Amino acid sequence: MAKALPGKYNPRRLLQRVSNDLPELLRSEELWLCAWCYRCTERCPQGIQPTEIFLLTRNLASEEGRIPKNPKAIIREIMRSGRSVSVPDGFDEWREGYGLPPIGMTISPKAIEEQRKIFGEELLRRLDA
Ligand code: SF4
Repeated sequence: MAKALPGKYNPRRLLQRVSNDLPELLRSEELWLCAWCYRCTERCPQGIQPTEIFLLTRNLASEEGRIPKNPKAIIREIMRSGRSVSVPDGFDEWREGYGLPPIGMTISPKAIEEQRKIFGEELLRRLDA
């Protein structure tokens, strides 16, 4: 991610901000840019686990209802359809033109209901905050 967003995202700087600038960092979208690839965790010669630190820090931010718009949209779509990306209108017609069946729901309504129970009321509260 640091290579993709030079000057905007740097895991070293983010780690420094976790210890030196936590209140401000919890309000920052930079915290949500880690792609969770675990490269830094695998390569760190000191055994530091930045990925886990960023995940825990995100959890602190979400407890305060500070989830940026894009992650919120992804979570809502997973809760709605089981997919992380919504299917655009007209997609099934487009597929039909190629002789493909409708894409349908990824998971059954029963599984979505179970998923909602697992996510729980707390996640809904954080999404609506
Ligand atoms: S896990 Fe580490 S290397 Fe991967 S995107 Fe996040 S900070 Fe960067």
